[in-house]
Amino acid sequence: MLYCSGPIEQPSRRMSLNLPKLVADQTLYSWCGLVHAWNGSSATSTSRSLFGSPYTALMHDFPGLLHHLAERTGGQLGEPRDIALRHTLLGYFLPLVHVDQAENILQRVFTGTMPELKMKLGIAASRIGGHHHLKGCAVCFDNDEETHGFAYWHIDDQLPSAMVCRKHRRPLVIAWDPVTPVHRRGWLLPRSGLKRKWIEVPVLGEEQIDRLTTVAEYSARFATLAPGSLDSRVLARVYQRALHSQGLATAKGSLRLTALIKATRSHFRGIESVPGFESLQAVTGDWPGLAGALARRQPRPGHPLKHLLLISMLFEAWEEFLAAYEDTLSPSGEVAPTGAFGPQVCPIETFRGHVIAGSSIRSASIKTGVCTTTGLKWAKQLGLAYTPRTKVFSDEKKNLARTELMSGADAGAVAVMVGVSQVTINRMLSSDLDLKQAWCIARFYTTRERRRKHFQALIRKHPQLTVKALRKIPNNGYMWLYRHDRAWLAQNLPSLWAQIGPTNPD
Ligand SMILES: [Zn+2]
Repeated sequence: MLYCSGPIEQPSRRMSLNLPKLVADQTLYSWCGLVHAWNGSSATSTSRSLFGSPYTALMHDFPGLLHHLAERTGGQLGEPRDIALRHTLLGYFLPLVHVDQAENILQRVFTGTMPELKMKLGIAASRIGGHHHLKGCAVCFDNDEETHGFAYWHIDDQLPSAMVCRKHRRPLVIAWDPVTPVHRRGWLLPRSGLKRKWIEVPVLGEEQIDRLTTVAEYSARFATLAPGSLDSRVLARVYQRALHSQGLATAKGSLRLTALIKATRSHFRGIESVPGFESLQAVTGDWPGLAGALARRQPRPGHPLKHLLLISMLFEAWEEFLAAYEDTLSPSGEVAPTGAFGPQVCPIETFRGHVIAGSSIRSASIKTGVCTTTGLKWAKQLGLAYTPRTKVFSDEKKNLARTELMSGADAGAVAVMVGVSQVTINRMLSSDLDLKQAWCIARFYTTRERRRKHFQALIRKHPQLTVKALRKIPNNGYMWLYRHDRAWLAQNLPSLWAQIGPTNPD
């Protein structure tokens, strides 16, 4: 076996492991860790039982030997392709890779491992870093435990450009382990496993939460695109058009560099200090290059994170970006679309297959990696029967959404309540500044109340601890209070205040 890092053992015996289910957004690594926790024995023997290789189960970002896994688990985790694209980071990196190369990578991780994968994907050269720290949200972990009986790593939170939980609009916490992943001999799981330190992503206020929520939302959508579905040349043109319409490029496409850098810095102010986003400090060098890739004969695909930051800066909604991409795919065929799971399958055929198999136009469009507008156009061309969507956001629903937002409800929860997408709610907020302000204030008060109560409860629970020790408890909320509610800290916690003094504890 050419690409295997270790010897493959044949499944001579039927596997006798007790296997948990694989949750829809759970990472494969997280599932493997749970198998280990449920069945005991050593990490290498768990890995051998699942993959026939001692360390494959410990690879936390990219997969390997998926055919062996499928064989040894009797196919109960689903198709190896779906496991690779939906439960590991491959789904996030492959849309930008040429469709043939993407297929080649998939075939290789089905039958072996690919030690040079990060180099092939351009991660090593991107200056963004390839460690892929494990990240998560404490509220999500609580919910997981209630729903499934265990907390797990959610795939969307592991995407390198995800820094906040979209569901709860709060910073993710990073499980910091100084041991590099290849040297680990066990699993880091959200609520068990190896020792780790929790680092909360330092997000500065509501505006930044908004921006990082958009980046996280776009990242998750990006990861559902078909491998090879984005062409760097088309992307470069999409960016140039958008930059031009925003006065950041001339009609001929030359970039107004100073204006671009200024706009970028202002949009992501402060984020360059967030672990994983340090590359923004080099904004002067990288960014114009990304948007200017069209000028090169061989544009480099670039790291998805760079694209996602630029897309979130230039487009107010993901659908807008997809529509701009579709529009830019020239009808003259200058740049041919490549979105498909294999080089011979054209997207419209894939789309047709999904609709015939029972998917809605919207769902078939998402599965094919195109926007719904294109899906509708194709459905008409193909003569597929569908029920046109009626206007779903009625005045009654708008009023309900408004009332809920005014009381500070979570935008995602409101979207679910009135049955529209979160993008629609975000648009409603961004088009009505008074509503947005009222919402931000209401959220601030709700958050402050929750943080105060939480911190007081923490002190009651650990009366003997110093502030320094309290701050080591995960999700203690101290920094938030220090930044946003310092007067309350000073008034209500005089003994603590005396310990910390009026200076910044950082
Ligand atoms: Zn969450």
